[in-house]
Parts: sequence; structure tokens; C-alpha cells
Amino acid sequence: MTQTSLTIHHLRARAVNVPLMPPVQTASGTVASAPLVLIDLETNAGITGSSYLFCYTPLALGPTAQLLANLAPLLVGEAVAPGLLEQKLQARFRLLGPQGLTGMAMAGIDMAAWDALAKAANMPLVQLLGGPARPIPAYCSLRSMERAALLQEAETMAATGFTALKLRLGLPHLDAELELVQAMRQQLGPGVALLADYNQTLSVPEAIRRIRALDELGLTWIEEPTRADDDAGHAAIARAVATPIQIGENWWGPHEMARSIAANASDFVMPDVMKIGGVSGWLRAAALAETQGLPLSSHLFPEFSAHLLAVTPTAHWLEFLDLAGPILAAPPTVQGGFLHPSTEPGAGLAWDESAVARFLVSD
Ligand SMILES: [Mg+2]
Repeated sequence: MTQTSLTIHHLRARAVNVPLMPPVQTASGTVASAPLVLIDLETNAGITGSSYLFCYTPLALGPTAQLLANLAPLLVGEAVAPGLLEQKLQARFRLLGPQGLTGMAMAGIDMAAWDALAKAANMPLVQLLGGPARPIPAYCSLRSMERAALLQEAETMAATGFTALKLRLGLPHLDAELELVQAMRQQLGPGVALLADYNQTLSVPEAIRRIRALDELGLTWIEEPTRADDDAGHAAIARAVATPIQIGENWWGPHEMARSIAANASDFVMPDVMKIGGVSGWLRAAALAETQGLPLSSHLFPEFSAHLLAVTPTAHWLEFLDLAGPILAAPPTVQGGFLHPSTEPGAGLAWDESAVARFLVSD
């Protein structure tokens, strides 16, 4: 079976709402469950390419699954060729635009197509993309914001071998934030890197005020201090503070990333494989980062991201926040602070069908 002979036989999209234990708390709201759309791209050769989308809110779950179901008739009979599929879908959505649910759907199809190609070639995705299957340094994205729970979670995760942890800031007062970061530093010692995320909650002047005060605490980066699409604001913050500024999880495609880079909005970049346009979009994002020498980290999707960071020239950190773990037969695991890309053919996603059945949402 050659890759070019693979054609799409069927596209299946299933909506699941996976409880998160514990929930993920941010300054922009708590995520109590992971609303996921599971995509299976079935081919004529009996190979199925899989991926999933994270809808952020259950309100978007049904519409996203329905959009994918609506796209299925357009795809049946098409070659499993990500570039061709992208051209066809981009043309179909040109007037609506490739952001939001349309962008998510296209990215999910792209990821599933790449997964099918790697399975057809009987190799892990990282190998199909030309890379070595090297371990990727992973930081743990802590879920708690409440002080005692956060310190406990940090202690537990550091004990499992993580050498970097991310906490979420955005407390009402700066003094409490300074105290919290100092308490974590004291508890964990100098061997554990600390990262912080404001989840877009500060004004530009307030971000500058707070981050200047935090500068002396040696955070590895501060993420999205202000509104994600405010490139000029992030650039002003990045110029005014010493701590590196990190953004990128909300870029819809490599073109938005290019505009952000041109505005000098951040010191580091962190595309999300879904929002940046799937595997194809990521590869362009990695090329952009390489031309500017920008350290590139991942956002969510640890399974796919491990393969992709392994072929990213300026790879930095993998975010380990395992939203899909409860519905995967073999969830990714971090060992000694590193995540190894799956050695199975494809990206390594296999659904735990009994868990999928338990969390299935029907309309
Ligand atoms: Mg973030």
C-alpha cells in the first residue's frame, strides 16, 4: 500500500465531555470538564487516522461535532493528502474565514490525515516528519489556584520528576502573588523552574507593574499577561520587564503568528497544534520561529506535540496538561521530566472505547 493510494472512506466525529479531576482553575474561569470531539478518518485501506479537538466549553461541543459531520460528504473519496485537503477546505471556508470552529475542524482533519499517513507508513509520526524520536522536556501545568491545594499539587508533581511547573496568576492583589511565588520557590528549591500564566487578565499598565515586581523572582516566563490579540500591548510589556513574555496559544494559524512576531510581541512562542492549523500549520509555525531564533513551546495536546516538538528546530518546553488522558487507552506519561513521543505507528492515539461510551454526549 503506497501512501498516495489512501483515500477517505468516512469521517466519524464523536462528542465526549470528560470530567477533569481536579478541575483546571485559571484567572479567566475554571475548566471543570474537557469537551472533546474525537475524529476518526477511516480510509479505503482499513487504516483509521485519529485526532481530537478541545472545545474549551461544552457550549461549543455539539456545534463542532456537527460541523465535522457536515464536512464528511466533502471528504469521502479524497486522497489522504493533508496539503490537498487543506486547499479544498480553505477554499470552502474562505468567505467565512479559517478561525474559530472552522479552523478547529480543519486542523482536526489535518491531524487525523497525518496520523493515517504515518500508520500507513508503519512509523511514528515523528519519523514520518523526518525527526528522531527524542525525549522532550515537559513542564507540568498545575491545575489549582487556591494556595494550599496549589502548593500540595506542586510538591506532588515535583516528586514525580518534573523540573518545571506552571502556576496560574491573576489574584486580586500583587502582594498575594509575590508571596505565593516566593512560597513555591521556597518549597521546591532552586532545581525546579517556575512559569506563570495570567490568562489575558491584566491591562497593559497593570501587567508592567506586576511583572516588574515579579522580575526578581526568576520566573522562566510569564504567559499572556494581557489580551491575547493585543500584540502592541504585549510588545510594550515585553520591552518594560526582564522576565520573558510568552504568548501563542490563541494564534489562529501561522499568519497570526507572523504578525505577532513582526510586532515583537513576545520573547518566546507557544502555538497550539489545533489553533495553529494541525500538523501542517505547526510545521509552518516551527519554520517561522526558526527564522527568528524564537524558543517554541507547545500548548495542550501532549501526544501530538511530543512528535512535533521533536522536529521543531527551536523546541523549548512541552506543556503537560493531559485533558484527553481519561479516554485514551495509553495516556502519555512523563518520565523524569521528559515525554517520549509514542513509538506506535501514527501519533499514538487509541481510544479507550468503554471510557468514550461513558462520556459520550449525544445531541
Ligand atoms: Mg496559557
